[in-house]
Amino acid sequence: MKSVAINGYGTIGKRVADAVEAQDDMKVVGVSKTRPNFESKSAVDKGYDLFIGIPEREQSFKDAGIEIAGTVDDMIQEADIIVDCTPGNIGVANLEKYKKEGVKAIYQGGEDHDLTGLSFNSFSNYDDSFGADYSRVVSCNTTGLTRTLHTLNPLCDIGKVRAVMVRRGSDPSEIKKGPINAIVPNPPKVPSHHGPDVKTVMDGVDITTMALLVPTTLMHQHNIMAEIKNDVAIDDVIDTLEKRSRVMLVEASKGLGSTAELMEYAKDLGRNRNDFYEIPVWQESINIVDNELFYMQAVHQESDVVPENIDAIRAMLEMEKDNEKSIAKTNKAMGIF
Ligand code: NAD
Repeated sequence: MKSVAINGYGTIGKRVADAVEAQDDMKVVGVSKTRPNFESKSAVDKGYDLFIGIPEREQSFKDAGIEIAGTVDDMIQEADIIVDCTPGNIGVANLEKYKKEGVKAIYQGGEDHDLTGLSFNSFSNYDDSFGADYSRVVSCNTTGLTRTLHTLNPLCDIGKVRAVMVRRGSDPSEIKKGPINAIVPNPPKVPSHHGPDVKTVMDGVDITTMALLVPTTLMHQHNIMAEIKNDVAIDDVIDTLEKRSRVMLVEASKGLGSTAELMEYAKDLGRNRNDFYEIPVWQESINIVDNELFYMQAVHQESDVVPENIDAIRAMLEMEKDNEKSIAKTNKAMGIF
């Protein structure tokens, strides 16, 4: 049983904590917060030991009646691996702490690839992080792009990829970032960082991306155009996506024609936090024109990276050599299709 600590119990961190607890080969030894807000309280209510990221704030946690188990430095001592889910760019300072204590760490997509020199996706490059000390699970958008492109590459022999990503303006609880009433090219230049980021986990892929923000909080949406070198039928593409776990074919004609309806479906699935771990691909959108494959997909930004973090733990702690076995184990524990 491996001991996992989650530094940063926010949108991603709280989901990773629950996903770790759902496995039978790892456990949570602590989670961290910087403020005594409702997430701190619910972490303690769930039975997680809560450690504080800013020691000077100890009194404010006491004043709020929230029991703390120590500081992040104490938490690091107890863990075989840290999953760092602090906001982007804070990881640099944390890496010094982890190195000093000789503890392994997994970062998230808000950090640059250069921080660890290694990025992770369960399907495309699990082996690269096997036994590694530091790695980074790529962002929600990069994870979504990689899942479907890597699945389709053996069938299609993909050449140039172009993708336009319509991104949610903010996460649902982020009142300081949203709502926006605009369509914002983000960034207003080409490529967006997503294409280069896919290249960090999918060797040799030729991908260029553009991205914009829109006034929604539910999910991202991707429009993908990929040159294909093999002569492939649409049914083969559907069949290949259907067989891949963590990818789900959905049909607009069955009432799943929007991100809102997808999130309603996620509620019906009855999972923790109504999460949608799979990448839904609209079946009707799949088309091949000349030698180009087109499809549309969505990404539940709050949850698609969560199973990848579990597989990254297994790879880095050398708990499972075979990525497909880890993926299957994670899927089973989390009820992922
Ligand atoms: P968040 O703001 O929701 O949570 C971050 C948590 O870190 C907060 O709860 C905060 O209390 C805690 N924290 C711990 N130490 C801190 C410190 N020193 N300073 C400030 N806060 C500290 O962030 P998030 O959305 O969960 O993002 C975490 C990481 O995951 C980022 O790298 C982000 O880019 C990445 N990511 C986010 C999403 C998403 O859509 N939210 C998707 C994929 C990846």
